[in-house]
Amino acid sequence: MGLISFTENGLYCSKGDFYIDPWRPVKKAVLTHAHSDHARAGSEKYFAHKDSALVLRARLGENIRLETAGYGEGFSCHGVKVTLYPAGHILGSAQVAVESDGEKWVVSGDYKTAYDGITPAFEPVPCHTFITESTFGLPIYQWKNQDQIMAEIDQWVRSNQALGRYSVLSAYSLGKAQRLVYSLSKFGYPIYAHGAIYNMHEVVRKTWDLPPVHWLKPDTPKDAVQRGIILATGSAIDSPWMKRWSPYALGICSGWMQVRGAQRRRNADAGFVLSDHADWNGLITATLATGASCVYATHGFSAALARYLKEHHGLRTGVVKTAFGEDEED
Ligand SMILES: [Zn+2]
Ligand SMILES: [Zn+2]
Repeated sequence: MGLISFTENGLYCSKGDFYIDPWRPVKKAVLTHAHSDHARAGSEKYFAHKDSALVLRARLGENIRLETAGYGEGFSCHGVKVTLYPAGHILGSAQVAVESDGEKWVVSGDYKTAYDGITPAFEPVPCHTFITESTFGLPIYQWKNQDQIMAEIDQWVRSNQALGRYSVLSAYSLGKAQRLVYSLSKFGYPIYAHGAIYNMHEVVRKTWDLPPVHWLKPDTPKDAVQRGIILATGSAIDSPWMKRWSPYALGICSGWMQVRGAQRRRNADAGFVLSDHADWNGLITATLATGASCVYATHGFSAALARYLKEHHGLRTGVVKTAFGEDEED
């Protein structure tokens, strides 16, 4: 058996007696990041990157037992060394390296290889075995660079303004929202946000220096809102809250927008291919850069990625079923 095994509670290191992103309550949970499919409530003790501490407390409870570290740091447990490295996914996200007796495994968590301007960039970590996410593990998923996407959004907002419509962007509250606020504020747009995004953004701003958003309230002046951009979560868009801001155009920012028909299925007026995950080339480049001879793919199109790495690069590969990727992500 290797350093990490795949159990019904999640990825488990028996030698160090800890789990990584367990989906059931355990004694000791090492977390890659604060998204709800990776960070779940109920464990006795947590370990995570220091920049995700406030978000984790906001989501899992103020009183959780939480130990934190920076990148390149970690802890030791029964002779197993655990170290965190940047994953480039969202603020505070980390890859987890596990090392013992000369054997080294890395769990990627979610990651993206392109730099977004705010999240410390993904860093390949040399290892023997790499457990990689594969949310967008098909060759059709190829991202354009972020500046290009933001320029497309800028054009779209201008045309909405010319037509007298509000511009509403759907984004999840942790990660995508901060990325949009950071990039779109540069165009001079004031950003208005639904309460769920406003609250999360305020928590994140206690750790990171990011532009503020305005809390969009029923009495916010309509002409001001029309000159800006409204950020809302998917569930807010389907609620009565949204009706007040009519007529509006809805744009969805997600890697899934790459596929034809995805935009129409979600009743959007525009789809912007902006993801916090690596695209197909990113997954392959990142995996090969670790030098790992054994790769396990989880989360998404794992079989396709595993087959490609085996056939084209001669790696030993496997597919692991996990409970990740069920929720707020893309
Ligand atoms: Zn995530
Ligand atoms: Zn995930």
